[in-house]
Amino acid sequence: ARLTAADADSDERAVEAALRPRSLAEVVGQHRVREQLGLVLDAARARGRAPDHVLLSGPPGLGKTTLAMIIAGELGAPLRLTSGPAITHAGDLAAILSGLQEGDVLFVDEIHRMSRAAEEMLYMAMEDFRVDVVIGKGPGATAIPLEIPSFTLVGATTRAGLLPGPLRDRFGFTAHLEFYEPAELDQIVHRSAGLLEVRLTDEGSREIASRSRGTPRIANRLLRRVRDYAQVRADGVVSHDVARKALELYEVDASGLDRLDRGVLDALCRRFGGGPVGLSTLAVAVGEERETVEEVAEPFLVRLGLLARTPRGRVATATAWRHLGLTAPATAFG
Ligand code: ATP
Repeated sequence: ARLTAADADSDERAVEAALRPRSLAEVVGQHRVREQLGLVLDAARARGRAPDHVLLSGPPGLGKTTLAMIIAGELGAPLRLTSGPAITHAGDLAAILSGLQEGDVLFVDEIHRMSRAAEEMLYMAMEDFRVDVVIGKGPGATAIPLEIPSFTLVGATTRAGLLPGPLRDRFGFTAHLEFYEPAELDQIVHRSAGLLEVRLTDEGSREIASRSRGTPRIANRLLRRVRDYAQVRADGVVSHDVARKALELYEVDASGLDRLDRGVLDALCRRFGGGPVGLSTLAVAVGEERETVEEVAEPFLVRLGLLARTPRGRVATATAWRHLGLTAPATAFG
């Protein structure tokens, strides 16, 4: 199994929940988002009104769910959770909205994957706290207006650009989460180790942090795998040497690239001569969904300067060739 796969088993979810920061003050990094969001929440509290709807965008595992929980917590409101793929009909959304209480925070993960009809219903709900429930079909259909309690929508998406303009425009505040710096991940690893009672050295923590793909969820996951290794093959302490050996065993390389990342680069260089190649072709070559390649693997490869998205397709940079230990063609990008 991929160690860094986006989907987690239930055991992992339990640990993740335990490691979640509970307040804005506990959140590591994301300084700008924290300050902006803090202001939005303080202002809403001062006015005694529900805050504007909030859109959180960024690659998986950077803390969108965590922030949604914190928003509800800071407002002292219950959080209702759902996700775009679970809303296949407008009726699904109508049922959720009409079940809300005044002031609730509704979190819709992967909001870009909601059905079109539901999306249109959501526009009106966000703006006027009202929905039209359509009864019947064809010329005989009637729309029955339904008042809903005022609520705060927190939407999460891997890319704000995936949302249709009208939906994006109805969010009063959009936070773009960025990959974390190694020093911030180092802080997260130390914090998690404390909570999980894992003994680790500063060098051990730094090694995990530097291989975590800029992603807190991955940092926490790698910490647990390295802890296993420390317990079974060493004296229980996560030292630099233990961390390095364990991460090698789990095929996480020194830049933090996992198997999917390397698969993408490998296909790009060895099969397509460095590109340009279309996203769909690339996805088929690595046996993954288009969306997974685009939203999980690519943002980090772009960030490391290994891959470029061009109008003609994906291109490997000279750094990517070197990363794979190959000689870059003279025409290679960058
Ligand atoms: P997805 O989009 O896949 O749902 P996400 O962006 O919602 O991912 P979270 O589930 O919020 O990510 O975060 C994953 C884990 O990373 C959490 O368990 C949390 O402990 C940790 N985490 C995220 N952000 C931070 C942070 N800023 N400081 C400390 N820990 C964090």
